[in-house]
Amino acid sequence: MSVTLVGNRTPSGTAPERANGISPSVADPVPGAPVNPSGVRQYPDQAVNKGRKPKLYKGREPIYPRRVHGRFRTLKWIIMAVTLTIYYVAPWVRFDRGPYAPDQAILVDLANRRFFFFWVEIWPQEFFYVAGLLIMAGIGLFLVTSAVGRAWCGYACPQTVWTDLFIWIERLVIGDRNARIKLDNSPFSARKARLKITVHTIWLLIAVATGGAWIFYFADAPTLATQFIRGEAPATAYITVAILTFTTYTLGGLMREQVCTYMCPWPRIQAAMMDEHSLTVTYNDWRGEPRSRHAKRMEREGKVVGDCIDCNACVAVCPTGIDIRDGQQLPCITCALCIDACDEVMEKVGKPRGLISYTTLSDYAANAARAATEGVEAAKAGQVLPGWREVMRPRVFLYFGLWSAIGIGMVIAVLARDRLDLSVAHDRNPRFVQLSDGEVRNGYTVKIMNMEPEPREFDFGIEGLPGGLMWSPNIVDEPARRFAVPVGPDQVREFRVFVKADPKDLDSETTPFNFRTYEIGGRENSEFDAVFDAPPRR
Ligand code: SF4
Ligand code: SF4
Repeated sequence: MSVTLVGNRTPSGTAPERANGISPSVADPVPGAPVNPSGVRQYPDQAVNKGRKPKLYKGREPIYPRRVHGRFRTLKWIIMAVTLTIYYVAPWVRFDRGPYAPDQAILVDLANRRFFFFWVEIWPQEFFYVAGLLIMAGIGLFLVTSAVGRAWCGYACPQTVWTDLFIWIERLVIGDRNARIKLDNSPFSARKARLKITVHTIWLLIAVATGGAWIFYFADAPTLATQFIRGEAPATAYITVAILTFTTYTLGGLMREQVCTYMCPWPRIQAAMMDEHSLTVTYNDWRGEPRSRHAKRMEREGKVVGDCIDCNACVAVCPTGIDIRDGQQLPCITCALCIDACDEVMEKVGKPRGLISYTTLSDYAANAARAATEGVEAAKAGQVLPGWREVMRPRVFLYFGLWSAIGIGMVIAVLARDRLDLSVAHDRNPRFVQLSDGEVRNGYTVKIMNMEPEPREFDFGIEGLPGGLMWSPNIVDEPARRFAVPVGPDQVREFRVFVKADPKDLDSETTPFNFRTYEIGGRENSEFDAVFDAPPRR
């Protein structure tokens, strides 16, 4: 068995005091870190929620997550790098939409009430697309939870990502867990002040950058950045950055796991969505118990011991400060860092990985039953691990089907939607005017909406009104059945139209007809059902 000794054995270091707040000499000092009798480092941490009587309000106990290496930590680094890069860089990506539209790839243009996402442009009346995206995001969370448990919380939630980033800054400036505990427990000194000020300054800079990146989604980023630096940006920009700086710094730097444990509703919702086939980070107590820090001696004495050497490495790396060996808990964000930590320990003591693993309740029960009947070694050799069957479940298919159907429907709707809209309002009073030559005139207010970022010309006319002619002040004075209307890029053109007809040509007092408009040189057209009113027949 290959064993790595870290520092000297210091039995006092194995005391189960809470690491946070204990003296540095006891809390795994460096050098001279305590060593578990099994030969790996012993972490004197205790879960923050262990052995405490419930109180109405309890002050936060600081948590000092230790650095860990492993596949899930690597995955978290990759996801952090990708999500943060997208967030900070996206507003600076340019996308050419021609000379009449902004060239920012992602832009919420509040002034002109438009949302641009690469080649897609959403107008206010098309807001249902945004609602569709929000519904997809909601169903997507259900889908992810059903397939891979609380993966969102552990890997991609902004609270997790920014907290991880802030802990990384702490680690870079002060050092790993022991150095941070030591610094916090040391008396005030110039070094302590310098390190703390450095950490909080970097946190604040990140928080300002986070708020700054957000406002760039709402205006041309290069222009707003210049205005912002010169003090010429709108007040709302400064207020927004101030609010987001405060929230990022407070939530990611100071409150951290408390947001997940006490403030966020999502863990409660997810807990209700989990079933016995949901993946969750699980301590396999059927092979870990009875845990012992003196496993070798106990084995020599012929006593039964489990694989857990009670080193507390899993507790020391946990960003929420809990002990996964106590079972599934709401504060567990399933970041799987305890899996990496325990796998590392298992390798050191020559035991198979997976004492803590992603497992479903049903697989856990199957493994535990096998351990009880066939023995722990047999169960370990044939340990049921999660596979595709956990993901390929009817519930997952249902969510995926729903999510895909909405997504496909939205894509088709976006591709097939008209970029031309015609609306007409009939004058309410008077409904008609009798002309001196006996004909009758009706007045209408017409709106032609050109939703393309380029100027277009439309052929506008009436259909279905016998003998009807129309004219429009400032466009065409001569009565005609149709005329051309130019409309600027991304604009709504509103104009008055007067339609006249001889009542003798009409069958009734109210004659239905259509206004129709065609794109000249294009394929789009739009029509509007209208009525022409005439006086009662005698
Ligand atoms: S579960 Fe693994 S990491 Fe946690 S105390 Fe036991 S051996 Fe150590
Ligand atoms: S118990 Fe493990 S999976 Fe849960 S939050 Fe802590 S380290 Fe992450």
